[in-house]
Parts: sequence; structure tokens; C-alpha cells
Amino acid sequence: MNDYTLAYWQGLAEKVSLRTRHFIGGEYAASADGRSFQTINPANGAVLAEVARGGQAEIDKAVSVARKVFRSGVWSKMEPRERMAVMEKFAALIEAHGEEFAILDSLDMGKPVMDMMNIDVPFSATTIKFFGESIDKFHGQVTATASTALHYILNQPLGVVGIITPWNYPLMMAAWKIGPALATGNSVVLKPAEQSPLSACLLAELFIEAGGPPGVLNVVQGLGEEAGKALALHMDVDKIAFTGSTEVGKLLMIYAGQSNMKRVTTECGGKTPQIILGDWDDLDTVATYAVNGIYGNQGEVCNAGSRILVAKELHDAFVEKFIATAKQNFIVGNPLDPATTMGPLVTTEQQARVLGYIDKGRAEGAVLALGGGTPATLSNGAYVEPTLFTGVNNAMTIAREEIFGPVGTIIPIDGLEDGLEIANDSPYGLAASIWTRDLTKAHTFGRDMEAGVCWVNCFDHGDMTSLWGGFKQTGNGRDKCFEALAQYTQTKSVWVNLG
Ligand code: NAD
Repeated sequence: MNDYTLAYWQGLAEKVSLRTRHFIGGEYAASADGRSFQTINPANGAVLAEVARGGQAEIDKAVSVARKVFRSGVWSKMEPRERMAVMEKFAALIEAHGEEFAILDSLDMGKPVMDMMNIDVPFSATTIKFFGESIDKFHGQVTATASTALHYILNQPLGVVGIITPWNYPLMMAAWKIGPALATGNSVVLKPAEQSPLSACLLAELFIEAGGPPGVLNVVQGLGEEAGKALALHMDVDKIAFTGSTEVGKLLMIYAGQSNMKRVTTECGGKTPQIILGDWDDLDTVATYAVNGIYGNQGEVCNAGSRILVAKELHDAFVEKFIATAKQNFIVGNPLDPATTMGPLVTTEQQARVLGYIDKGRAEGAVLALGGGTPATLSNGAYVEPTLFTGVNNAMTIAREEIFGPVGTIIPIDGLEDGLEIANDSPYGLAASIWTRDLTKAHTFGRDMEAGVCWVNCFDHGDMTSLWGGFKQTGNGRDKCFEALAQYTQTKSVWVNLG
């Protein structure tokens, strides 16, 4: 890897191409009515670009192109090996354009550019590769029927898949959805978040460069309640794959009911507990994971470990270690500086929202143990300091609602049973972790935790074979993993009479 410097990234920011239009049928297009919206750099408040603001007309056009290409069979019936080769090349191109993706997403939503290089870019390329490799390994079945019949079940693509993504991992969330959607032969209309629109069209361009047919992967830019809603209400879209807030996830299910009963898979909010039991003896390790778990990506993570449930006997020593580790590991600053490990939040609105939760924490009686404000030297950007509250109970607003910012809460617990009860007392169920040397307690947690993703003695570990998705109001979708493919196909029974 390059020896990156701030000057290098600043230089790249000056010259990187900003793709601000829609990408439909392999061609760039402005909005029919010429409207646009602004995307802002949250590190300094500067307008990065005016972006085409799509609506019904652009969604209609993209869906119609996607349907036509789907029916043509040019992608949906392409030989598996050929489709695999396109996906493999697509993954390689994402990696080759890593710096471009890194600078675009970092400028757009404020995450440290080196996080993009170390996490988002390689993981997105691996995602496309994994789903590409799975193409000829995912198949239907022949069932055991009477000798007078042959019965088989086919897994066929759905048709046109609408993908609606959030701003916290713009490239990666798109990759998690388009990977299985394309691998199974669907056509796609992607609507990226309006806060982070700049990398989506580069992705669509690279798909074509890899040999993907034009019209298979389309991008319509725009606002959620305009372009997103039009896509979700469209009568010719077969599925919406969504990552975003629980509030919008619920709306999408309503839109499906109001239109054509399209399938809807949702990956929504979280309030992840990190349980640390009294037998855990390595405070250095657990503090490092806990700090990264809540402050990584500015806390703008669906699985941010925002509720830290600590055994009473470890409480004081843990809090001291946590604060020291946070101060050492999280350097708030310009996201283009390779030394920065925490950038600004995505917008000043998000900053105000997070600061509002911090006020609420104080007002409800929690004790502010770290941070709590905006760094004085960074007043131009939407920054919030890494923040920690102690003396929290699970009824407080800061323990119940998803803050989506760098705000951790420490809740003291009395052993496993108490910890599990508090951990499960949440409307969300995305992820959870436990730290213990006791095998029985670890597996009891694995069995009884109401969350789709459970970690024992680690946090945020996994690979392409481990699933991503939640219980309860986190939603019903499963990303990554082989199982995700099934969500982009429909099964068909073919019964052949041999009698
Ligand atoms: P959001 O729900 O506000 O927006 C997500 C997307 O939905 C955007 O593209 C937006 O334009 C679109 N949208 C908004 N209103 C819409 C409408 N009425 N119809 C159709 N589309 C609409 O979420 P956000 O603020 O971008 O992202 C933060 C949320 O995403 C958090 O709640 C976070 O937990 C969640 N998230 C979940 C996961 C996961 O895997 N579970 C991963 C990342 C983020």
C-alpha cells in the first residue's frame, strides 16, 4: 500500500471525478426536470456537488430499462461461468479503484479515509467476489417423489430489484445488496442515500467495464421521500432490499402493501449490548474491543456497541481502562489525515441530534464520564467527541434509542441472567457480544440472546460465511452469507408426469 499522507488525499480530493447524475441503461442522465440537491462535506461544511434529483420519471425509466434487460436474458440467463467471470473482474476493479472510492465516501460522509482503505473497500470487493464465486454453487433440488413423477425445485431470479442504501457505509452497503442480487441474475435499480451519493455511479460504471450488460445495474439519485418512495411504490419492482432506519423500513413494508406486494427485506436499527462478565480477566483486550465497538465509524454503525453491560465487580477498573483506551485510540480530526481515527458525523443535523441525546442523558441523571461536546478546534465540521455515560439504567432514553453517534453507556449488571435480561430488553436485535471464560455461560448467551449476530470473546468479527441481519425491529433481511442469495430468488416447482 502507498505511504499515504494528508497532502496525497487532499490532492486526490481536488482532482477526483464527481459523478453527479443518474446512470440508467449504461448512460449518464440529468433529471428530466433539471432539479438537483447538494451534497455537503461534513468536515468543513463546503458544498461538494449539485447532484441530480430523481423522481418518478427517472425511477420509471430505470425500472423499465431494468425490466427490458432482465427479460432479454442477457444477464439473467448468461452462462454461470461467464457471469462469474464478470463478477470476479468487477471485484478486482473495485479494489483497483479503491482510492477513488475511499476519497469519494470520505468526502461525502466524513469517515476517515484510511477506514475506507482498510475496511470498506477490501470488504466490498470480497463481497462481490464471494457472491460471484457462489453462482454455480447455489442451486435448486430434486425431491423424493413417487417413481411415476420427476419433481424439481428451481431458484429463479425475481426480476427487478430496487436497492435503497444508507449513508454510513455507502460503498459497502451497496456491495452487500448488489452482490447477491446480480449473482442470482436480477436487474437492479440502486437509490443511494442523498447524504452520500458520489460513489454509486462509479460502482455501476465498473460493472460495465467488467463486462456487465448495460441496464443491469442502474443508479437513480435523489431524496428518500421522492426517488426512494417512487421505487418502493413501483408496480414493476419485484423486491426492495433496504438498509436504513427502522422508521423507513416500516414505511417500505407499507408501500409494498399499497402497490404490488413486492418482497421487502430490511436491515434496520440496533442498540447492541456488549456484556462483560465478572470472570473476564483481560481488561486491556475487552476495553480495546469495547471502545472500537462504540466509537468506530464515529458510532454511525447499526451494530454500534452502545450498551456496555459490565459486571459490578469489574465496573470501576473497566471504566478507567475504557476511558484511557478511548483517549489513546480515537483521534478526532480531518478524515483525510491518515492519523485521524474519528471524523465528523455525516451532517450538522446528525450532530445536533447526537448532542441532543447527550443533553437528554445528563437530564435523566446519567453521569458524563468522557467527552460530551464538540472539539473546540474543529468548529467548522459536524464533529462530536467520543462520549461515555456511566450510572445508566436500561430505562433511560440513551439506553433505549439508537443514537447513531459516538455515545457509549455503561450499565452495571449482576451476572449472566441479569445481563441477558437487560440485553434482551430492547426493540432491536441486530448484534450482541459476551466476554467470559465460562463455556456454559458463553453458550447460554448464544442460545438465549435475541439477536441475529452474536460474538463470544470478540466484537465485530466475521467473514463472508457469517450472516448479517437482525431479530425484532432490526428487520428481516440477511446480508453476506450464502443464505442471502435465496432472498433474491423465488422458488418454482416443476412436476413432470412419468406415469
Ligand atoms: P434512513 O432510513 O433515513 O435512510 C436510508 C435510505 O432510505 C436512504 O437512501 C433514504 O433516502 C431512503 N429513504 C428515506 N425515506 C424514504 C422513504 N419514505 N421511502 C423510500 N426511501 C426512503 O437511514 P439513514 O439515516 O441513511 O441510515 C441510518 C440508519 O441505517 C440507522 O438506523 C442504522 O442502524 C441503519 N443501518 C442498518 C444497518 C444494518 O445492517 N442493520 C447497516 C447500516 C445502517
